[in-house]
Amino acid sequence: MDPEEIINQIEREVTGCTKCELHYSRKRAVAGEGPVDAEMVLIGEGPGFHENEQGRPFVGAAGKFLEDLLAKIGLSRKDVFITNIVKCRPPGNRDPQPEEINTCTSLYLERQIHAINPKLIVTLGRFSLERYLPKVKISNVHGQAFKIKGRLVVPMYHPAAALHQGSLRPVLERDFSQLPELISGSGNVPEFREEESKPEQDPKQLSLF
Ligand code: URA
Ligand code: SF4
Repeated sequence: MDPEEIINQIEREVTGCTKCELHYSRKRAVAGEGPVDAEMVLIGEGPGFHENEQGRPFVGAAGKFLEDLLAKIGLSRKDVFITNIVKCRPPGNRDPQPEEINTCTSLYLERQIHAINPKLIVTLGRFSLERYLPKVKISNVHGQAFKIKGRLVVPMYHPAAALHQGSLRPVLERDFSQLPELISGSGNVPEFREEESKPEQDPKQLSLF
């Protein structure tokens, strides 16, 4: 199957998916949208109220701010693929649970990334960050590019966080402003080593052996 067919097939599967608890309360599942040959994929947390109504990602207030961030670097929604860690709205916007995340990402997100094969992934918020860099804090790593299995991953704060906390707005703008250079390949980023994200081992424990 060519990438376009795979993405369309995933969309059909997501639309009727009942593989985790979230399908009970969702109205519309949200597979994601954008060109199959996008160089950049943005990954949010999960559909909110408006996304659940419309079946499209980032169409509420956070989505409007995301569009502004993209416009400032000369991009629009049509240039990027936008999706989420879980494709169905968690009831009352609760956190998605580990089992829901594992089920949904292994069924869909991983296949989407494989089919699109983007140069760069932007994680929006902590749930998508955790998929790529499980042990880091967003406040330490936002805006930094990590090369993971040959692909650039750039963690960002979630645009919705900046709606509540205005001081994050300029931070997100600054972090987004670096993306064009990273996409064009001029950023020289070394492959990330997993050990770098692990906490230091306790030397006292080591000396017991
Ligand atoms: N927040 C998200 O994480 N995803 C959306 O699609 C909308 C809001
Ligand atoms: Fe299926 Fe994902 Fe929706 Fe769960 S969140 S029902 S796995 S599409």
